[in-house]
Amino acid sequence: MQSELQQLNNAHHLQPFSDNKALAKSGPRIIERAQGVYFYDSNGNKFLDGMAGLWCVNLGYGRKELADVAHQQMNQLPYYNLFFQTTTTPTTKLASKIAELAPAHMNRVFFTGSGSEANDTNFRMVRRYWDLKGQPNKKTFISRANAYHGSTVAGASLGGMDYMHKQGDLPIPGIVHVDQPYWFGEGQDMSEDDFGIKAAQSLEQKILEIGEENVAAFIAEPFQGAGGVIIPPKTYWTEIKRILAKYDILFILDEVIAGFGRTGEWFACQYFDLKPDLITIAKGMSSGYQPIGGVIVSDKVADVLIEEGGDFNHGFTYSGHPVAAAVALKNIEILEQERIVERVKNEISPYLQKRWQELADHPLVGEARGLGMVAAIELVKDKSTNERLEADCKGGGICRDFAVANGLVMRPCGDTMIISPPLVITKDEIDELISKAKKTLDDTA
Ligand code: PLP
Repeated sequence: MQSELQQLNNAHHLQPFSDNKALAKSGPRIIERAQGVYFYDSNGNKFLDGMAGLWCVNLGYGRKELADVAHQQMNQLPYYNLFFQTTTTPTTKLASKIAELAPAHMNRVFFTGSGSEANDTNFRMVRRYWDLKGQPNKKTFISRANAYHGSTVAGASLGGMDYMHKQGDLPIPGIVHVDQPYWFGEGQDMSEDDFGIKAAQSLEQKILEIGEENVAAFIAEPFQGAGGVIIPPKTYWTEIKRILAKYDILFILDEVIAGFGRTGEWFACQYFDLKPDLITIAKGMSSGYQPIGGVIVSDKVADVLIEEGGDFNHGFTYSGHPVAAAVALKNIEILEQERIVERVKNEISPYLQKRWQELADHPLVGEARGLGMVAAIELVKDKSTNERLEADCKGGGICRDFAVANGLVMRPCGDTMIISPPLVITKDEIDELISKAKKTLDDTA
């Protein structure tokens, strides 16, 4: 028997990324409250949140300072925007703080309400840049198969998810995709290093095929998140850097998941030693306490836009929203004061990754991998052949259900199980996560 709220939900709420008919049958789980790395549903079940919500609650739940600053800002000034010609104190301070943390060649921020809007902003800003540079033919964006860059029309088109492209006739024109560096899934007929180079070279082949004079930008996540925590072989980024240095195209690094400490650096471009022209940010910027995203813009791009561009006819009602900005600013202040990024690098991610590797011994696990505060396991039926757990790659869904029954949130991506816990998770909580993950694998076997 479903509760009154569940019935109301079935009648009126169309849920994102859901089969709403199937969901109505089972009744959606109602989440009531959360504290630290745990959340609780309306039936009193407690879960260890191995995904930090949707890769975003980096400070964990229940940070009163963030609620207080939102309350204070709402009382003082909940919203203002005089046709985009004004700013507010938290908005400007946030832009300045992000510029201080970003690589030295990036000093400006364009704010949006989400990561998807930020990638739409990239799409328009990059094309505008090339128009202003007198090269209007440079319009094509090169992305990668199985990338995730959002759910708006441009975001989903930039993304490389076939199941998203199938709905809505995507990608839109001017967006093409090259190989992903997914060695476990696609490259085991060669060494990991060779595969990294091969995957990277698919970018160069595409540039040559389209013509450098027609290519606007290459967009990539530093490690693919929603694609299954796909961590490129060591050779991959080195080869991509060689290619980017050779051709006159812009480089957009989508750090919506990676930014603000998840790799143990403030930004993953510092972790991988990359020099992007634009960085997409969202999620960890406010630890998910307020919806906010943005693009960090290099001087190279910003100078052209500002000096030669006149009006940039792009923006959102909630660009630089003062409450979201105040919360993001406080979130960054806490990350700094509590030295959370350093703690991730030196203490907690080495511990998480060491313990995560124990899962590699399980008969169901073909590979355990991770970096910083993300990790994945590949579910297999047979370790000697790495045959997938289920022919239709639905093994992850089965494993996810056992995890939920064990009070642990792990996310399935096909036959890959992934985690991305809050950055503040303690060693004891990691121990609990690992023992729940082991029990889940035993139950799945
Ligand atoms: N880019 C990446 C790498 C993401 O992981 C996501 C969301 O998961 C997005 C963009 C889209 O962000 P949003 O859901 O805030 O629109």
